[in-house]
Amino acid sequence: MNLDKASEAKLREVHSGLVRLVREVHERWPKAYPKETGVRVTCGFRGQTEQNDAVKRGASKTPWPRSKHNRKPAMAVDLLPIPFVQKDWKDIPRFERLGRFVVDVGKEIGVAVRWGGDWDRDGDTKDEKFRDLPHFELVG
Ligand SMILES: [Zn+2]
Repeated sequence: MNLDKASEAKLREVHSGLVRLVREVHERWPKAYPKETGVRVTCGFRGQTEQNDAVKRGASKTPWPRSKHNRKPAMAVDLLPIPFVQKDWKDIPRFERLGRFVVDVGKEIGVAVRWGGDWDRDGDTKDEKFRDLPHFELVG
């Protein structure tokens, strides 16, 4: 199955390594977890207005232009597992599964990423002050 059109449009402004990782995850995630059908990209590049709105909403702690979403091409993506409905925001174990999955696939294909559920990359998702569960960014 292909990524949806909105995801493809967002990927046009994203770093090629991350794009490769998103495609790989979209394909492998449903094979590992048969109830899943893939992933959707909800954010790639964020301009100044969008970034400051995200901070106001509490969705980001990083004011423009310091977020990895603010580079061009973007060094960060926000991903949701699909199918996804509003109540799925509460399904933290599912985000944790996907978070670990993305990091592992990244290691395998040589694209090192940090997940917003484990900023310090110590494998412990409970020691973070602020968790941004859909967020993945290139390291370095
Ligand atoms: Zn993000």
